[in-house]
This record gives sequence, C-alpha cells and structure tokens, in this order.
Amino acid sequence: MKVTEHLENSKKTIFSFEILPPLKGQNIQSIFDNIDSLMEFKPPFIDVTYHREEYVYKELDNGLLKKQVVKKRPGTVGICAAIQNKYHVDAVPHILCGGFTKEDTENFLIDLDFLGIDNVMALRGDAVKTETYFKPEKEGHHYASELVTQIQELNQGVYLDEEIQNTSETDFCVGVAGYPEKHMEAPSLDSDIHFLKKKIANGASYIVTQMFYDNQKYFEFVEKCRAEGITIPIIPGLKPIATKKQLNLLPHRFHVDIPDTLIKEVIKCKDNKEVREVGIEWCVNQSKELQQAGVPILHYYSMGKSDNIHAIAAQIF
Ligand code: FAD
Repeated sequence: MKVTEHLENSKKTIFSFEILPPLKGQNIQSIFDNIDSLMEFKPPFIDVTYHREEYVYKELDNGLLKKQVVKKRPGTVGICAAIQNKYHVDAVPHILCGGFTKEDTENFLIDLDFLGIDNVMALRGDAVKTETYFKPEKEGHHYASELVTQIQELNQGVYLDEEIQNTSETDFCVGVAGYPEKHMEAPSLDSDIHFLKKKIANGASYIVTQMFYDNQKYFEFVEKCRAEGITIPIIPGLKPIATKKQLNLLPHRFHVDIPDTLIKEVIKCKDNKEVREVGIEWCVNQSKELQQAGVPILHYYSMGKSDNIHAIAAQIF
C-alpha cells in the first residue's frame, strides 16, 4: 500500500520510523532485532536509508596513496525486500541522485517494482566527504526534482531507451525531503520552499521533514508551505538526542538548531545514560504536542538504535 493511502486511512496519529542498513560485515539480524521491538506500535511502513559510496585513500608499500571507492552501508533494497517479506509492512527505500546515473536509477526502480515495493523516497544526497559541493554523475540528476520526474516517467511506462516496446508502467508513490530550518545550501527558506514546490509539481506525493527540536519551527514551516499552495502531507521527522556529542554533531551535520533549554538540560547530565533520558523526555513532549495538533503520523529517526524510540513510542501510541 502507498504511504499516502496509509495516511488517508488513519483515524489517529500513527507511528513510523527510519532505519539505516548495518555496516558492511554485519548480518541482517541486527536490523531485525531493532525492528522486532518496535512492531508492537504497528508501523504501516518503515523507511530504509541509502548510503552512497565514499572515497578512502590506502597507503601502498611504496608510500603512494591509492584511491578506493567503498560503500560502508550497502543493502537498502535487500533490507526492504526482507522487511516486506518478514513483517508484511511496507518498506520505503531511499534513492539518491548522488552516485546514480539515470540508467542506474531506472534499474534500481525496476528491482523495486519486481519486489512489489511501491513507495520510494527521492533525495539528492550530499556531496561525498572529499568534495565540498554535490556533484552529480555525468549521466545523473542534479536535484531531487529531476529524480522525481524520472520516477513519474517510469510510472507512465516511459523508459530511457525509447526503442523498448510494450513497456509496463510502475506505480511508485514518491516522498521527498523538506527542511523546516531550510536546507543548508539554500539562500533562504523561501527559496528552499520554491524548489520544494518543484518536487511536488514533478510528482511527489508527500514530504518528510528533517529533524527539528522546536515544534514551532515545524508549525511555521507547514503554515508557509500551505500559504504557498502545498497541500500534500508534511510528515514530521523526530530524532531524540542520545549523547552529549550530538549537541555539536547534529547542528553541524544536519543544520538544525537545538533550543537553549534542551542544551542546558544535556550539559547538566553526568553521563550519556542521563542524556538519553533527557532526549526521550524532550521527544515525548514534542510528540505529544504534534499529536494534539492533529499530525497524521510521527516519523522517528532510529539511527540504528531502537531502545529510545521504543521508550518514546510506549508513551505516545
Ligand atoms: P534537493 O531537493 O535537490 O535540494 C538540494 C538543494 O538544492 C536545496 O538547497 C534546494 O533549495 C536547492 N535546489 C533544488 N532544486 C534547485 C534548482 N533547480 N536550482 C537551484 N537550487 C535548487 N541522504 C542520504 O544520503 N541518504 C538518505 O537515505 C537520506 N535520507 C533523508 C531523509 C530525509 C527525510 C531527509 C530530510 C534527508 C535525507 N537525506 C539522505 C539527506 C539529503 O540527501 C540531503 O539533505 C541533501 O543535501 C539534499 O537532498 P534533497 O533531496 O532535499 O535535495
């Protein structure tokens, strides 16, 4: 079933979450262990992130450096298939512009279609760690809006090779990212919303937001989007703080503000066990307020750990 259908069918706020594929070398049990404990909250869908290649430099015997391309967290499609097979809930694979040619994208989507996966989250991806700016593949997409167009074309049976005959149509429901505190590269929130509208015009059916720690930022973002004529669902994304290090890491990595009150509470903590409790309490309060405001769904970023998400969900759902 499509994410949008789950939202339309829900009579109260529902629960969903996002997982990361495990680091290469680990087996799928680590994923199942995380999902198992969250199944009691009946998620109708689970997102699985996609991680593009990285460049690492290995020193050779002669002292020269050899550039190697590695994917540290492969397995997005396999995990999605395993989730649908084992839990009978919809899996939403993330797909990127970065590292994909249009041909790679088409083949990725064909695999998903054959597996009965009919939701996909279309993202641009970030620059690889060794580069300052995002660079698309030579035959790839520059922006998520272009990726959305390719998915919609496949939904109409339009493949890259025009010579293919009797093409079948796919039926993907497409989600895209939105940023209540604007995307880090956008010159302003208005400009970011302008390009968000392009993703919707090209066929996106719902938005999932970047994490935020101040609900007011989400409410204002939704208001601005609605005023700009965006009518599709805007799913709030939440990530509980779990370590002291995240006070610096989250604003740096995701360009989100952490409210002073939360910063002070975290600084007071003796250890990360206490931080985890503070993070859970903050996220429970955020969740309750959003639930009272009538959001159809709360989407949690588990980042590979489910215990704190479980503690939060137990108080909300
Ligand atoms: P876009 O929508 O393409 O926007 C990128 C920037 O370009 C924005 O500043 C936008 O305003 C601007 N822009 C857009 N179109 C144009 C245009 N035509 N001309 C000029 N400027 C334009 N990353 C991963 O690697 N894997 C994941 O699984 C993943 N999952 C995510 C899930 C969510 C819910 C979110 C919020 C983010 C996720 N990301 C993931 C991170 C995401 O890839 C980065 O934030 C990335 O930098 C931007 O992706 P986007 O799809 O929002 O890009």
